Amino acid sequence: MITFKTREEIELMRIAGRVTAEVLDIMREAVRPGISTGELDRLAEEHIRANNGIPAFKNYRPSSNMTPFPGTICASINDEIVHGIPKFSRILEEGDIISVDVGAYVNGYCGDAACTYPVGAISEERMKLLKATEESLNRAIAQAVAGHTLGDIGHAVESYVKPLGYGVVRDYTGHGIGRKMHEAPQIPNFGKAGQGMTLKAGMTVAIEPMIMSGREAVRVGANGWTVLTVDGSDAAHFERSVAVLEDGPEILTKWQSFL
Ligand code: MG
Repeated sequence: MITFKTREEIELMRIAGRVTAEVLDIMREAVRPGISTGELDRLAEEHIRANNGIPAFKNYRPSSNMTPFPGTICASINDEIVHGIPKFSRILEEGDIISVDVGAYVNGYCGDAACTYPVGAISEERMKLLKATEESLNRAIAQAVAGHTLGDIGHAVESYVKPLGYGVVRDYTGHGIGRKMHEAPQIPNFGKAGQGMTLKAGMTVAIEPMIMSGREAVRVGANGWTVLTVDGSDAAHFERSVAVLEDGPEILTKWQSFL
């Protein structure tokens, strides 16, 4: 079921979105060679709790056969696409790329956002992937307009990245967001323009292209959580929570781009 938000609820979602985006602004400064993903996770949790928030991912358990997610952030490095588990033993190295995904509940509403950061100096190929994935997110957000369709959003992502030789993750999607982190509808990063559900004012959605430099095949790692590319190619993930308003899309998680 789609939940449409009132003006008052959108205002609460702006607050949750702000706290969530601030975590990524902290990450943007903190990511560097030598820091552990466990330390990044600690910084994220500290900020959310200092703002009366609750980390949305911590102890999240989508089904009974999965272990609860242990982190405040998902920290996914290089060929890890999403859902990487942060650890004090996992140290970032110069040249890595790291996707940080974070969600926070504040006053009962959720924000969800992600960005992939360069660790020190990275290769031209990796920078190109990061720029293309962020651009695909921007193009998708531009389609989050009342009267447009979910297919318009997916098409904006897919039609931009495929000619660059990149693959789109198809098994994981964006989603509605509100009182719950994952609400209807699912928002694929592929599709045909004009097809699928029509967007209406009052919808709030998390749009999150996951793009890989190689073949479109993914696998789940031995820990039951981390999603990786099958061919070992790199992946990037950028996400913003967005409100579909009468006068156009409003970004609720206004993290700063590193570009
Ligand atoms: Mg999300």
